[in-house]
Amino acid sequence: MNGVQFPTALLINGQLVAGEGDKEDVLNPATGEVLCQVPEASLEQVQAAVAAAEAAFIGWARTSPKDRSNLLLKLADAIESRGEEFARLESLNCGKPYLAALNDEIPAVADVFRFFAGAVRNLTGPVAGEYLSGHTSIIRRDPLGVIASIAPWNYPLMMAAWKIGPAIATGNTVVIKPSEQTPLTTLRLGQLMGEIFPQGVVNVVTGRGETVGSPLISQPQVRMVSLTGDVSTGQKILETASKSLKRTHLELGGKAPVIVFDDADLSEVVAGIRTFGYYNAGQDCTAACRMYVQSGIYDKLVADLSSAVSSIKYGEQEDEGVEMGPLISDRQRNRVASFVERAAQQPHIEITAGGKVGDSRGFFYQPTVVAGALQTDEIVRREVFGPVVSITRFDDTEQVIGWANDSDYGLASSVWSKDVSKAMQVAAHLQYGCTWVNTHFMLTSEMPHGGMKKSGYGKDMSIYALEDYTCVRHVMIKL
Ligand code: NAD
Repeated sequence: MNGVQFPTALLINGQLVAGEGDKEDVLNPATGEVLCQVPEASLEQVQAAVAAAEAAFIGWARTSPKDRSNLLLKLADAIESRGEEFARLESLNCGKPYLAALNDEIPAVADVFRFFAGAVRNLTGPVAGEYLSGHTSIIRRDPLGVIASIAPWNYPLMMAAWKIGPAIATGNTVVIKPSEQTPLTTLRLGQLMGEIFPQGVVNVVTGRGETVGSPLISQPQVRMVSLTGDVSTGQKILETASKSLKRTHLELGGKAPVIVFDDADLSEVVAGIRTFGYYNAGQDCTAACRMYVQSGIYDKLVADLSSAVSSIKYGEQEDEGVEMGPLISDRQRNRVASFVERAAQQPHIEITAGGKVGDSRGFFYQPTVVAGALQTDEIVRREVFGPVVSITRFDDTEQVIGWANDSDYGLASSVWSKDVSKAMQVAAHLQYGCTWVNTHFMLTSEMPHGGMKKSGYGKDMSIYALEDYTCVRHVMIKL
């Protein structure tokens, strides 16, 4: 931690200011140590941030896509050139391996800002035509105003990029609240944004959901609320937003089914799930956590995957060869442990890898495989959000499509088979925002990410996010 500076100041109207509310301990989940304390924003500071965003909107919305694009490109360069600093802050605060943050996440964050910088210059809202005789109609895509963005703890900087990028590219202004558990990279981002963007265009406030998030989204000047978080938080936000009919954009939980047919390439599946089930310690709404494996390869897959998963090296952020970090908190670890304990009590279930709390000072849990799970089991139905993959045996295609869709969630899914035609047919029937074939988890800035059912609605990344953060307007001219 030598030489690491922990940012603690909020960004309000272009100024870095100390929060005036309660102080929150920010922990290193790999050791349980307190990294620093970050004060929450007071109600007056939340109101000041929203007022600043509202005042900035008038000028910002009138800038050209080119001008906004150039500033977003500047931000992407600034993040990239400070990649090691951002990666260190993110890995210390979330517990994730430093090299994963550096090599996977920081380049993806910079790319998201670059994508939106380019995409907004291609956003072709305007369509002109004479639909009523003697009149010409024009369709415009215009920004909405002040956006309140509420982010979770699993990928703090990435979630900030997904929310801030499309919002400000299209001429909106933003007040973002990171998770109280993981504010550090968003605060550092706030410092950079304060140097790059006109005052008030982006504001950062910190604090808990009830004390800061809820008053933020309640402000009358806020026109849209964007949340990535839990289903229950989405429900609360909808209730609040309904009072003033704010637009909402909800990216909520997931329970991704992974359908593996007898004809899949077994070693590819094992290598894939070893990564995609346990990346970020499984704290990922798209994690490959719910496997359905056809009877013909079931036994071999359980044996091979369990042995591969047992070899995942977990440890502290900068341990040599570390592949997986701890869970975000003791509470989250206890939650994961209790899911596995309850599953292990079922006579048909066998824990074939892991299944115990990790042996370290931090909030570690062993990478775990729960074999023999049935469709009705809690471990198959509820979001665990930890390094735990369940495996269920299936016989035929209709049965597995039914089981895969028999879920409250609808975010991500995958199908594994050498018969791509069969995989495509199955993909067509899955009720998920995304289906991968012979892979899982891969995202790219050009393609949309978002759910169905209780996983929420609205898209992150892609041109569709630009549409979500704008409204379609009609201007008619009498000729
Ligand atoms: P959470 O819902 O507890 O918190 C998310 C954010 O909401 C935090 O900033 C929190 O302070 C804030 N919040 C909580 N209550 C609030 C309220 N009443 N009003 C306003 N803000 C409030 O979620 P989490 O525990 O930080 O993250 C884990 C969850 O996020 C998981 O369920 C996961 O599936 C989901 N997630 C979804 C996606 C996706 O793209 N669909 C991505 C990542 C995480």
